Amino acid sequence: MYAEVVAPLLNEDDTVWVHDFHLIPLGHELRKLGWQGKIGFFLHTPFPPAEVFTVMPWARQLLEMIMDYDLFGVHTRGYLRNLFDSLSDELDGVTLGNTFVSGGRSLQAGAWPIGIDAEGFRKMAVARQESTTGSYVHKISPDHQIVLGVDRLDYTKGIIQRLITFEHLLERYPALRGKVSLVQISAPSRSRVPEYVEERQQVDQLVGRINGRFSVAEWVPVRYLYRSIPQDELVAFYRESQVCLITPLRDGMNLVAKEFVASQGDDPGVVILSKFCGASETMKQALIVNPYDVETTAEAIHRALKMSRRERTSRWNSLMEDISTYTASAWSDSFLDELETEARS
Ligand code: UDP
Repeated sequence: MYAEVVAPLLNEDDTVWVHDFHLIPLGHELRKLGWQGKIGFFLHTPFPPAEVFTVMPWARQLLEMIMDYDLFGVHTRGYLRNLFDSLSDELDGVTLGNTFVSGGRSLQAGAWPIGIDAEGFRKMAVARQESTTGSYVHKISPDHQIVLGVDRLDYTKGIIQRLITFEHLLERYPALRGKVSLVQISAPSRSRVPEYVEERQQVDQLVGRINGRFSVAEWVPVRYLYRSIPQDELVAFYRESQVCLITPLRDGMNLVAKEFVASQGDDPGVVILSKFCGASETMKQALIVNPYDVETTAEAIHRALKMSRRERTSRWNSLMEDISTYTASAWSDSFLDELETEARS
């Protein structure tokens, strides 16, 4: 259906750029309708290891369809390796550098880590701070620290593991009770899909359990916001939090990590990042954790809460360099440049 709508709109010199896994067959369908111009594809999710990808009975069919693109982009070098492994496991062909050649067709592929408009976010955070009097994220005392989680409510985001880890932190370090709160923002997502309904129920229950167990009159350990917050308000949460806890079990990139960094002022917070998200490949100065490892992740939160301003600033400077290099516009410009100039049509 997409191909039938797109094909009549195309002029001879046009370039088509297709986005994300659900549209993998689009390039193939356009070729069937006779389109010979350039088509690029970008995958916004992880490309799984070949042992996982090739479990799908239709893996070969999908890989054949992928071969109809001129250029295939992923976020990380790891995902790129997985793509080439799957291609060479399933199709007759050879890998030459970043090109896979099979049956007279050749596919070029590469890693383009997506980014954000870092400068735009920084300006939005400053503007929000200047327009707000007092604390936006209510603190009960000057030394009250905020650990922030922001995600769509999705089972890939590791929200349940994060809550269990925070509970463990409060057990392990009783001195933190009354001094630190987890602010968890969960934007509703695919709310009629049964797995998401179940995830929501589990999160609701866990928040209730932790708050029931530890709350006192003036302090609540978990503040849970089940709604989507506009980005010009989200920046205030980013800026006033001491730690951003990003613990997906799998995530193509994760932009929240980058937005948090861009929003910090001169007393920057610490990023704790799951090793299973694309962002961890370049954001090396975050504290990198395995979100399934409750104990070590709790220790990382404790370390982040106690980290000296000097260390926080030094880590933040290098993270800022990363997100100012890999911006959203650098990502799209360099992909399209490659598609226009290098990739064979
Ligand atoms: N976001 C938002 N409001 C919310 C929660 C998230 O605007 O309440 C935005 C956030 O600023 C980010 C995006 O949603 O730009 C989430 O992107 P990410 O790559 O972290 O995860 P995805 O949802 O794409 O898996």
